[in-house]
Amino acid sequence: MEKDRISHHESVHKLYERIKKDGMTNIWDRYEAQGMGGNPDQRCPFCMGGVRCDLCSNGPCRADVEKDKRGVCGITGDGMAMRMMLLRNVMGASTYHYHTEQTMKTLLSITKGNSPFEITETDKLKDFAGRLGIEASGTDKEIAARLCSYVAADFNRSYDEPSKIVEALAPAERKDLWRKLNIFPGGIYGEMMLATSSCLTNVDGYYVSLALKAMRLSIAMAYQSQIVNEYCQDIIYGIPRPHKMRVDLGVLDPDYVNVLPNGHEPFLGFAMVKLARKPEWQEKAKAVGARGLRIIANIETGQEMIQRWEMDDVFYGFTGNWIMQEAILASGCVDLFAADMNCSMPVDPMYAEKYKFKLIPVSQLVAFEGVSERIDYLPEEAEKQAAKLLQMAIDNFKERKGSVKPFTGLPMKEAVVGFSTESILAALGNSLDPLLDAIKKGTIRGVVGLVSCTSLRDNGQDVHSVMVAKELIKRDILVLSLGCGNGAMQVAGLCSPEAKDLAGPGLKSICEALGVPPVLSYGTCTDTGRLGDLLAAVAHALGDVPITDLPVAAAAPEYMEQKATIDAIFALALGLYTYVNPVPPVTKAPNLVKLLIEDCKGVTGGNLNVETDAVKAVEGILSHIEAKRKKLGI
Ligand code: SF4
Ligand code: SF4
Repeated sequence: MEKDRISHHESVHKLYERIKKDGMTNIWDRYEAQGMGGNPDQRCPFCMGGVRCDLCSNGPCRADVEKDKRGVCGITGDGMAMRMMLLRNVMGASTYHYHTEQTMKTLLSITKGNSPFEITETDKLKDFAGRLGIEASGTDKEIAARLCSYVAADFNRSYDEPSKIVEALAPAERKDLWRKLNIFPGGIYGEMMLATSSCLTNVDGYYVSLALKAMRLSIAMAYQSQIVNEYCQDIIYGIPRPHKMRVDLGVLDPDYVNVLPNGHEPFLGFAMVKLARKPEWQEKAKAVGARGLRIIANIETGQEMIQRWEMDDVFYGFTGNWIMQEAILASGCVDLFAADMNCSMPVDPMYAEKYKFKLIPVSQLVAFEGVSERIDYLPEEAEKQAAKLLQMAIDNFKERKGSVKPFTGLPMKEAVVGFSTESILAALGNSLDPLLDAIKKGTIRGVVGLVSCTSLRDNGQDVHSVMVAKELIKRDILVLSLGCGNGAMQVAGLCSPEAKDLAGPGLKSICEALGVPPVLSYGTCTDTGRLGDLLAAVAHALGDVPITDLPVAAAAPEYMEQKATIDAIFALALGLYTYVNPVPPVTKAPNLVKLLIEDCKGVTGGNLNVETDAVKAVEGILSHIEAKRKKLGI
């Protein structure tokens, strides 16, 4: 297979060869096998166009809008495509919120004194409580307990009772618009019910109404699930602050016991780092012949962790994003893979058997065929559970070392990670002014939030994302990267200070002055809400201009799953120009396409841009940014 169809990263090319030699099923070959007529990217045209439905026993149905061919129930292709998009978004919202629930349970256990963790960011706790209008007197634990009950009450608010969290956090101009459009949400659970029930056969078949419901759900999700989650994780584990981190598959050393927390929830990962940093745990690993015990940050759980905690010889580094999962597992260096609620592949048991590692689900959401051993995360038990996982990994070491030839000599580099709103402000001398001045002067033309996954559609892992980011920085556009796309940037070297040489002269001068890379590593896809909050602060600092007038854009060059689709819909609700690739399954729904690409501008100010060519895509983003600059008179 051509290298560009596999991955941007050399380390993954090397391990693909091993996977092939070992005769293992793998994502690249499975992707190719799904293709039609010798084209790996070609699938059923109705499915690709979004005009098929199998929701009821009269289907599966296919629609053709041009010929007014409808489903048996009478729904149009536009309705089918948007209804399926809304259902995807319900899955995304639900999974984001599951993570939020676990974070709130963790914070609650801290308030009761039953947790290995503590509140580490008192100022952030007080600030967040203050923004929500929660009484901020008393001890940290008392404030946090109030915060927990406040957000729980809001999550459980009915869909027809406006969310107090959205009321407290969203910018006034957006709230007015959302009220006018009747998309100001209630509690997230009620919103999920409203959205899901609307998708039943013969309930809501109107694509415009379904699109508005998707926006409504996305607003509830961004403020209640994402912002609450990330700010509370900051309160517990620390606000992300810039620091160096080793990245790429060279972080895996076969002579160590290597434990990989994987998914999106960092709780047990952090608990394991805390324990593994104790000498007695290092001694236990040495007693079985290892050089020590390491926790290796992996995929989005890893991203949550590396943004907040510094590396050392125990918390050693970060591998990459989810498409390289089989490559990581085939390295022959893994002793335990702890799978929480996201991003663990159904084929992992086959890899566990072949490459001799323990595969342990640590969330009640996750299950694998043939794997019965599991440790479902309980905040009160976190330390005991972490100890059990570490012991399993140590017990596994001898067998893995004795039976699997490790793959070594893989590349490793350093990225700067840990940019958050607070740390960006600190880097700028506690004021947004230097950034705003640079934008006003045109040294930086604008800012793009690259919130992306990684996908094999049209290209290999991260190939398109890296191309888009390089084209953006070349045009003096500062990039904030989030999600699996952030892992792509880190491993590709774009979050390293040397990447300034790939930037245009204006952005390069800012990078040199501040000592930062041209792509700022801003977090996971769950940080999309945090990014919305930052944009609201920028809009406020510019004199309360509408967010939609800012010289900014959202970009998802390799969107993949259902969490990403709801992020894109939130970007539209926020009024952002939103670049999306690959082409989403809506192309045979022409009225829906027109709504998303053109008409949405007149509704929320946001619109979608779909383009498979990286240069053309970035030219589109740049002309949007330049138009906004002109409107602001800068
Ligand atoms: S809901 Fe309508 S379009 Fe879908 S399968 Fe049933 S009849 Fe066909
Ligand atoms: S939604 Fe995308 S960025 Fe987020 S975890 Fe899934 S694949 Fe990664």
